[in-house]
Amino acid sequence: MTPMIRQYLDIKKNYPDDIVFFRMGDFYEMFFEDAKKASKILDIALTARQNDVPMCGIPFHAADNYIGRIIKTGLRVAICEQLETVPSQGTIVKRDVVRIVTPGTIIESHLLQSDDNNFLASIIIDKNEIGLSFVDISTGDFYLSTIDKSLEIFRGEITKFDPKEVVFFEGKSANNDIYSEFIKSKNIPIYKLNEWLFDKDYMETTICETFKVKNTKGLGIQTDLEIITSGAILQYLKETHKKAIDHLKNPHKVISKMYMILDESTISNLELVENQQDKTKNRTLLSVLNFTKTPMGKRALERNILQPLLIEEEIENRLNIIQYFFEYHTLTTSLQEILKEILDIERLVTRFTIGKIQPRNFIALKNSLSASEKIKEILNNQPDDNFKNLAKRIPSLKNLNQRISSTIENEPALSPDQGRIIRKGYSSELDHLYELKTNAKNWILKYQEDEKRKVGSNTLKIKYNRVLGYYIEISKAQATNIPDDYMRKQTLVSSERFTTSKLQEFETDILSSSDKIIAIEKREIENLREDLLLRKVDLQELAKIIGEIDFYSSMATAAIENNFIRPTFNQNNVTHISEGRHPIVEKYYTKEIFIPNDINFDGDNNIIKLITGPNMAGKSTYIRMAAIIQLMAQVGSFVPASKADIVIADRIFTRVGASDNISRGESTFLVEMNETANILNNATNKSLIIMDEIGRGTSTYDGLSIAWAVVLYILRYIKARTLFATHYHELTELGSKKGIVNYNVLVKEQLHGVEFLHKVIQGAADKSYGIHVAKLAGIPTTIISQAERILQKLENDSKNSKSSKNIDVKIEENEQLDMFNASNHLVIQAIKSINLQEITPIDALNELNRLKKLIE
Ligand code: ATP
Repeated sequence: MTPMIRQYLDIKKNYPDDIVFFRMGDFYEMFFEDAKKASKILDIALTARQNDVPMCGIPFHAADNYIGRIIKTGLRVAICEQLETVPSQGTIVKRDVVRIVTPGTIIESHLLQSDDNNFLASIIIDKNEIGLSFVDISTGDFYLSTIDKSLEIFRGEITKFDPKEVVFFEGKSANNDIYSEFIKSKNIPIYKLNEWLFDKDYMETTICETFKVKNTKGLGIQTDLEIITSGAILQYLKETHKKAIDHLKNPHKVISKMYMILDESTISNLELVENQQDKTKNRTLLSVLNFTKTPMGKRALERNILQPLLIEEEIENRLNIIQYFFEYHTLTTSLQEILKEILDIERLVTRFTIGKIQPRNFIALKNSLSASEKIKEILNNQPDDNFKNLAKRIPSLKNLNQRISSTIENEPALSPDQGRIIRKGYSSELDHLYELKTNAKNWILKYQEDEKRKVGSNTLKIKYNRVLGYYIEISKAQATNIPDDYMRKQTLVSSERFTTSKLQEFETDILSSSDKIIAIEKREIENLREDLLLRKVDLQELAKIIGEIDFYSSMATAAIENNFIRPTFNQNNVTHISEGRHPIVEKYYTKEIFIPNDINFDGDNNIIKLITGPNMAGKSTYIRMAAIIQLMAQVGSFVPASKADIVIADRIFTRVGASDNISRGESTFLVEMNETANILNNATNKSLIIMDEIGRGTSTYDGLSIAWAVVLYILRYIKARTLFATHYHELTELGSKKGIVNYNVLVKEQLHGVEFLHKVIQGAADKSYGIHVAKLAGIPTTIISQAERILQKLENDSKNSKSSKNIDVKIEENEQLDMFNASNHLVIQAIKSINLQEITPIDALNELNRLKKLIE
């Protein structure tokens, strides 16, 4: 074993599960099993070193790209650097791991999604509660919450923050593995910290050290669970970054009294930030509302959508500000033009803190500061106090801006060895060195002229050779009257060679100027970085308020663009929404115009709406619209309606659509029943429930009975405002009960099918029109007409109250599937549809061709 491999193995044993990138000169090398794994992931050649040690390597300057590919698989990369250039002991240089790059602890901008948060989570399952904390190290955001020990709430919180990695402590109670199973089903890598770390005192010290405080109370970290949860996440960050993390913002406590709990199914069903088809952010509520111009604004918008407010005053405050931006829209548009100039200040601060900076980051910050200053000025000049108050919150960082401007070139080189970064005029020492470097020739010529004059010699020359360096050469004849400061260097037959301290200085300067330039540039950059960090808190506050302003402008613009209005709130437990629209369906899916519908809940007489109607009529759209408008209003958004007076909901529950959750081992029907159980167990009379097609995943009578019982339970025991869409016409009988009202969606029956009017009116639907929809979808006409006959028979028989079994048997016995019934055949229908009066010869030929194809 070579000393180097021994050193490698010594280090590797501390990182058994991670891929160790072992720095050797300009490469990171991987050995043994790491090499085998990495070569497959990275698709690079696997070679062998002496003694057949498998190895592969990547150039260090391209490392980020390779690291990105490895961590995408959920693995971590331990970066092992050379800590010295020449060995201080033995024959090889010292090496050690300086950082572990993991999916949840990335700071490298090209590994991050530009405007999205990249959260690391710590999850501690306690006896009766769960501690959760989320940190985005790239922005410094830190959230902390304690939730009830409920899988539904847990799922919702995880879906909301969408962590990229989890530090987990499962605790000892039985059944706790359901939480880790959920994390696994979402393919989020889990890291289990050593159990001994979960000691309250130890964690408290970690927190205090990170935030440089005496105790955790001031940070709002109070309970033991909060201490361990926050301590665990900080511990993991320290372990992976190998140093103290000192740019984190103080933890923001997500208090359940302030924010509405959203469960996973509601976030997903309402397509708040991810659509259900391709799982992207397109065609979501986020995309409807997103007119943000900065990454901070985009992140704030997403966070606010996922954290609807519960306190009316806070909602009204938000709405007030949005209204100003809405009313002064020209101002908003011009602010947005300036916002575009602001880059990701949050992530820039992180880079400055960690020291991973490029000179152009300073210019990015400077431009962002100038733009923020302009915004402050504009808002300050508005007559309205709301704007003035926002302006007040923008910290003035003019001095810092000035400091960057006077220090850094407008277009700095990429690094000190590639060109000038520190601005001319900033440091006379540096300017002198640059001047020396670029004007060395001129300096020599000028010095030569000066000396010629001084000595009175026209033969005096400044020369250079490798042995003597720079020297003054004067012919022997003229070297009689040399000045005092001349020092003789060499005497030749016909000339004398001298030097002066000025020339020596020049020589030293010129020879070392390049090194000196780099050193001074680096020093000044570091000084600037340190000065900048003195204003770290202000910069973070600036990022926050710019994010807010961007959020408000975006909400106002969305309201104008989408024709939204400001909602009002009442205490009377009534909801009146006039001409409501579904914002996502309206914007992305409606071919013509979206038909608006009203939603009214008037208290005791109108608690549950049973909505029946044909397939495709718009039942799902209608009930989702109710939930989305409620949610938007509590986010502080304007809403798609002509009037909306709403009572604040404590929660919004949704049970819509049927989907398998195969990865979690749950069938369609089980998912449906789980979601229903969650609603029935947690909804209150302040909640809004939407339920679509309850009971469809099982047999008709089972399903109908469950649906029936659920409606009655909500009416009797929960009394939550409920919209219940169903195909079971039998349920409309419940409309006779006080509190339940039947609604249906209008359709117009026409000769060849139905026209969907999408209008919701009071009263029960008369039939389902499912067969009409099947026809629209292109089911062969023979099947359609067969189905129509079967339906007729079922309906007649059911009127005669026969059991379903008998009906089935009868159909099978008596009905032959008449697939080739001539009058229904496609070709016959096609021939019938030809209009001989109008057809041209060419069309006739085409028609003939079509018929032939149909027969084939
Ligand atoms: P099913 O019972 O088959 O699930 P449904 O009654 O729930 O159908 P939706 O899925 O809500 O019907 O709507 C079907 C389509 O009709 C939607 O995709 C949408 O494009 C359109 N639609 C629904 N409501 C409206 C409306 N109010 N205005 C215009 N188009 C609408």
